[in-house]
Amino acid sequence: MHLFKCSFNSRNKLNYHKKIMAKTLLLYNILSSGINARIIKKVSDVLKNRGFFIEKIETSKVGEAAEKLKNYLNDNKDLEMVVAVGGDGIINEAINVLAYTKIPLGIIPRGTGNAFAKDRKIPFYIKKAVDVFKKENIREIDLGIINDEKYFLMMCSCGFDVKALSALNPNLKKKFKILAYIYHGFKAFFTYKPVEVILRITDEKVLCKGYFCIVSNVRSYGFPMAQIAPDATIDDGVLDICMFMSRDKLSSIANILAIFVKMHINFKNVFYSRTAAEVIIEQDFTEDFNSDNKVPLRVQADGDIYCNLPVKIKVAKKALNIFLP
Ligand SMILES: [Mg+2]
Repeated sequence: MHLFKCSFNSRNKLNYHKKIMAKTLLLYNILSSGINARIIKKVSDVLKNRGFFIEKIETSKVGEAAEKLKNYLNDNKDLEMVVAVGGDGIINEAINVLAYTKIPLGIIPRGTGNAFAKDRKIPFYIKKAVDVFKKENIREIDLGIINDEKYFLMMCSCGFDVKALSALNPNLKKKFKILAYIYHGFKAFFTYKPVEVILRITDEKVLCKGYFCIVSNVRSYGFPMAQIAPDATIDDGVLDICMFMSRDKLSSIANILAIFVKMHINFKNVFYSRTAAEVIIEQDFTEDFNSDNKVPLRVQADGDIYCNLPVKIKVAKKALNIFLP
């Protein structure tokens, strides 16, 4: 039936379709800032012309993509690939269903920040992004997993960045795009009262305290220039940890600026490590220098706030198949 559906075009196209014909699911949130019906039609047309047989899952709220994708997979055992059209949020929902299924994920970047696409140099032009969807471009990469239940593709963290993320709302993102992140980043940085967290790397008996901690599997944080985990590799079986141990603003500004030249990892007040062991981050409730310390500190995963501390983080080796240029 699928072949018949594609055979209306021309003899040449039919032959082309017969060669590829990958059953592909498009996943997108129609209400997200970079998506509209015209974009989805364009993506669909490009994929169809290249010989992919597509079906669509349209969502309109956070969390819906993961739920619908899970149900779809239960009913469609012959699905060959998923294409997420959007930003880091919908990609995170997709990986939480696709982990260990071997079904490869393709990405067409249409989000606000597109941090993962920028880090991995995934093309933004639709036809170029689709060019990446070839068998030889499938990579088996690691994911991080929080509390044995939530996967992340890029990073999770706690500190002033989470305050900035929690101030963002969908309308601001839609209206001001990347400027909304920058504005709230600055505002959070200067108004945030640092809360002390304790980091433990279990097998290595490492214990240190600090005020901003990130566990990452990619090099950059938000922007390609912000190389917070400069040694991170996406498929090396380890996660990279970076922790700012100083709480004063001047040191923190120096640390942030040094990220852009990858010098921060040499600073005395920055802890940097790479590990395959379990990482535990918890709040130090014994510290009482500010009242914010009584409130549980929140943790973000791939740019969305996920849970409160404490968290237990592990690497999920070779968990995801993904198309990368
Ligand atoms: Mg790694």
